[in-house]
Amino acid sequence: MLSSDFDVIVIGGGHAGCEAAYASAKLGCRTLLLAVNLDTIGAMPCNPAVGGPGKSHLVKEIDALGGVMGIAADATYLQMRMLNSSRGPAVQSLRAQSDKREYSAWMKDFMETLPNVTLRQGMVVAFLTEGERVAGVQLGFGERLSCNAVVLCAGTFLEGTIWIGRETQPAGRAGEFPSIGLSGCLKALGFKMDRLKTGTPPRIDGRTIDYTDLVYVPGDEKLSFFSFLDKRPVREQLPCHQTRTTEKTHEIIRANLHESPMYSGMIHGVGPRYCPSIEDKVVRFADKDSHGLFLEPEGRNTYEVYLQGCSTSLPIAVQAQIVHSLPGLENAQMIRPAYAVEYDYLPAIQFTHALMSKDLKGFFAAGQMLGTSGYEEAAAQGLMAGINAARFVQEKDPFILERSSSYTATLIDDLVTKEIGEPYRMMTSRSEYRLLLRQDNADLRLTPIGREIGMVDDYRWQLFANKQEEIKAEFKRLSQTRIHPSKECDELLAKHDESLKQNVSLEELLRRPRVPYEVIETLSPASPGKKFAWHQEVETEIKYAGYIERQKSQVAQAEKLDGVKLPSDLDYLAFENLAKEAREKLNRVRPETLGQAARIGGVSPADVSVLLVWLETRRRNQAYKDKQALAASAGQTVAAAVSS
Ligand SMILES: Cc1cc2nc3c(=O)[nH]c(=O)nc-3n(C[C@H](O)[C@H](O)[C@H](O)COP(=O)(O)OP(=O)(O)OC[C@H]3O[C@@H](n4cnc5c(N)ncnc54)[C@H](O)[C@@H]3O)c2cc1C
Repeated sequence: MLSSDFDVIVIGGGHAGCEAAYASAKLGCRTLLLAVNLDTIGAMPCNPAVGGPGKSHLVKEIDALGGVMGIAADATYLQMRMLNSSRGPAVQSLRAQSDKREYSAWMKDFMETLPNVTLRQGMVVAFLTEGERVAGVQLGFGERLSCNAVVLCAGTFLEGTIWIGRETQPAGRAGEFPSIGLSGCLKALGFKMDRLKTGTPPRIDGRTIDYTDLVYVPGDEKLSFFSFLDKRPVREQLPCHQTRTTEKTHEIIRANLHESPMYSGMIHGVGPRYCPSIEDKVVRFADKDSHGLFLEPEGRNTYEVYLQGCSTSLPIAVQAQIVHSLPGLENAQMIRPAYAVEYDYLPAIQFTHALMSKDLKGFFAAGQMLGTSGYEEAAAQGLMAGINAARFVQEKDPFILERSSSYTATLIDDLVTKEIGEPYRMMTSRSEYRLLLRQDNADLRLTPIGREIGMVDDYRWQLFANKQEEIKAEFKRLSQTRIHPSKECDELLAKHDESLKQNVSLEELLRRPRVPYEVIETLSPASPGKKFAWHQEVETEIKYAGYIERQKSQVAQAEKLDGVKLPSDLDYLAFENLAKEAREKLNRVRPETLGQAARIGGVSPADVSVLLVWLETRRRNQAYKDKQALAASAGQTVAAAVSS
């Protein structure tokens, strides 16, 4: 073993690996970041975008906790759009079209300048252990490096195979070696592995697309940003365009389904239900005669265009027919074929909420490796795994977020509790508290916790504190400022709502669903001539106060069960009065709390009651034994006192 002066070794320079290395270094650990190819740090192998429904919430949370992805996305956007802006605040989602090359270069520069981080190119082929604890890694050319914790963020690389039609190639993704041998090592260490698959669409030469009749999709005029920091880079925005599949497209696909490795059963890995391939769409939604596809620029200095919504693994010749059947792409040149990648992953039920293995201490994993799909999902896990690897090395308690605090916690809790059968993608519907977990209040929910654990620096903390002060002052102003019915007020309200009948506070007026903040600002501006920066946060809290209160009481209810710990070595198979399915699932997942047990698919409320009764009985027995022991030792003491 070559002793190395690293505390934490992070394997993988993808979205998970970068956040993990950053967090571990930020918390004071000497961190080594290893990647098969250092030139693909922060690479976006699939869509040139960050954010969108459910995913933007994760990016905001990463930023609120002091992470990197939000800052990188703001620095390298081609276009910013707020999706679902006409819908409720819980589902409004920011999406950045990113310049892929700029994003990767920005991330590599950033990682290279970080104190405590060392970048190295190398392929990890085995883990080194000492007893039940990880002790280091072995690299392809024989080097063995020691460390106190490892974070595996190997994405789609483990035994990776890419598919185009019946042709395969060993690869982690197009153009990059697969990671061979590590899966075997993990299985030998007792880990269960399984296979998943994901796909990506063709890339088109933008100069060969006829945009004349295509739908033009510009960025928002009013720019929004992911980061809560105050850097607001204004960049020239590039448009996207929309085209659609035709009946001809569907015919081509139906005629060649037998050539699809997915449909011919050659691929065993399961693909993402919510990022379906074009074959899946034509088969699963046969009633639809057309599907929308977006043409997304991959960067400012390239003419490559990403054909969003058309991921496939059909043979190249069929792909070309599909492309030419699309309006505007009749003469288009495909410059990179679509493909599917099948890879090994680690079912996350083998890990704790800290993303540490239950059986190999100091071994953490994050990202696609644990069964998710998406840059944002990977980055959120990476940040948490990096924080916890550092805390493990520093012998601190694991940093676990409550499900009610964030989508990040919802993601991790779902992964380590529910046996996912396909790549897990975040959506706002995954949380039972989505009105509390809006993208606009991620800092309110997480920045104080991030500050506590050392992830939030003074600059970010000061910005946050100022914002909270301003919001508090505005709430006070709105509740204490009263307005009376007047002609000006009626004229302003006429476009939105009924006129005022009596004098009310600004807060009461704003509580009216149809009265926008603009009316309040016109009637009584917080500071004349200057729009109040945090009006959305204030308006949402006031307008949705009732719903928010209801969700908060739901949280309190659920947290009761999450506060009840379960022994990690309990043999659930011995519980005859638990349902058979529950016994098997509980023994496989080995939940840490009763709340987690209740969230396992197949564990009914009746099963939870059985466990609750068992825990109570055990507590009483223990209390009785303790009392007896106390009495006995008191007796012995009395006896000893008497005899002396
Ligand atoms: C073909 C394809 C299709 C995709 N489709 C979708 C999709 O439909 N929807 C979606 O949301 N996302 C999709 N993705 C994106 C996917 O989610 C990403 O792969 C995301 O980047 C996951 O991030 P990660 O950090 O977990 O892993 P990755 O970004 O894959 O990074 C893995 C890193 O680990 C390194 N590595 C691997 N093995 C070793 C080793 N043994 N030693 C040293 N370094 C190693 C690699 O060099 C790389 O730096 C797709 C990706 C691909 C490749």
